[in-house]
Amino acid sequence: MMDNTFSRRRLMQGAAALGTAALLPWGLLAQQAARTAGAPGAPLPVRGELLIRGAIVLTMDPAVPDLAAGDVHVRDGAIVAVAQKIEAPSARVVDGAGMICIPGFIDTHFHLWNSMFRLFVRADVPTLGYFPVTARLGPLMGPEDSYRSVRLGTAEALAAGVTTLHNWAHNTRTPEHADAELSAMRDVGVRGRFAYGTPVGLSDDAPMDFAGLARVKKDWMPDKDNLLTLGICSRNLGALTIGGSAAAASRGVLTIEQIKRDWDGARALGLPITMHTSGASPIMELERAGLLGPDVQLVHPLLTTTEERGILKERGVSYSTSPQLEARRSSQLGVIQLGELLEAGVKVSLSTDHVASASCDPFGAMRTLFALHSHRIGARVPLTLKRLLQLATIDGAVDLGIADRTGSITPGKRADLVLVRITDTNMAPAGDPYEAMVSLGLPTNVDTVIVDGRVLRRAGTFTAFDHAKIVAEAREAAVGLRDKAKWPT
Ligand SMILES: [Zn+2]
Repeated sequence: MMDNTFSRRRLMQGAAALGTAALLPWGLLAQQAARTAGAPGAPLPVRGELLIRGAIVLTMDPAVPDLAAGDVHVRDGAIVAVAQKIEAPSARVVDGAGMICIPGFIDTHFHLWNSMFRLFVRADVPTLGYFPVTARLGPLMGPEDSYRSVRLGTAEALAAGVTTLHNWAHNTRTPEHADAELSAMRDVGVRGRFAYGTPVGLSDDAPMDFAGLARVKKDWMPDKDNLLTLGICSRNLGALTIGGSAAAASRGVLTIEQIKRDWDGARALGLPITMHTSGASPIMELERAGLLGPDVQLVHPLLTTTEERGILKERGVSYSTSPQLEARRSSQLGVIQLGELLEAGVKVSLSTDHVASASCDPFGAMRTLFALHSHRIGARVPLTLKRLLQLATIDGAVDLGIADRTGSITPGKRADLVLVRITDTNMAPAGDPYEAMVSLGLPTNVDTVIVDGRVLRRAGTFTAFDHAKIVAEAREAAVGLRDKAKWPT
């Protein structure tokens, strides 16, 4: 049974957080009071005036020099100044000594809806792999399940220093599921794009629910906080070479005519598009159909040809790579072509993919990418550690079309900032800060996370919500699905 009240309830909670609850009908308030599961925690912290003092600052902006010891001044959610010494008497001081300050990580492809499936998934047991589990349990999920799972994954990402997420929601069963996922992102306070998809198991003949998508767009966009944006995630074109029939059921495999129908619908609503390339490369077919453009992001760059890379550059298409999970694939299915893509001038960004069978670790993603690149092609195509941190930050912002507001520590941009401790035993005594970030860093070194000027994590602890509650409610939802599915049988 669908929770049809979800949309209104979550929207109302947003209104309540803004202090307008008194304007809402009593019936809705009563509903909210009657249902506490999944309700957001305390309101997010206010954006004030902050001064990060004495940090090693890696700006990721060629026009703003890195600082061996410097200050970052933030007011009303925006970066005001970056300099060696800033006087800001009214600002709250955040001591940056012994820390590296970076722009928050930007994760450009993340299936948050199945975060809680780690209760079931086994990387080494094919019948309990990611695809069979998502294909079986995905269709049983209600909006509240989606909310709890997305909130869990988003909180994990935030703790790892991710301030912007591209939520690849390929189990958007109803518009209310979309409301739920957007609510979870909003309640955690992250910046991101929600990519509205289709339900797991939907017939390939069926188009996307454009009426539902239009309703969600109308209700949520433009986001009052200017943190959330909207796009679509497309089903695949052409046969998949990974995950077998379960993956096909989970993702959908369309013809070029069906792809065109869905993409035309998205473009009519002014929404960007993302699609996996998990098999024979679909790029030439998409090009012949005239479908490629700067509003397209592809995922998993493993099998492109020289000609295709030229086309991607020409059309302004981005490619998101998920090194930790791509490295688990058979090398016969392709290798991560980072060197070739960068040489061709194709836009590349970094992603986690999912956390059902891997934890969110942008440091590990950079490290794995560096290792695989060095192993395969590093002697011919040198890659610096700074370039990897750019891929994980500013290049993600470019991919998502939001580099004007995030991705670097630049005065005028929004304050998405992360402080990483270099005094921990796995870091100290740190030398070069890029070496520390890429070769040594772990999510546990993330001390402070600021999104849009709100301090959401401080001294390794969430400031606005109860981590134990998020975990417990996700577990409760996962157990409920297991019972519903009579899993494992
Ligand atoms: Zn994916």
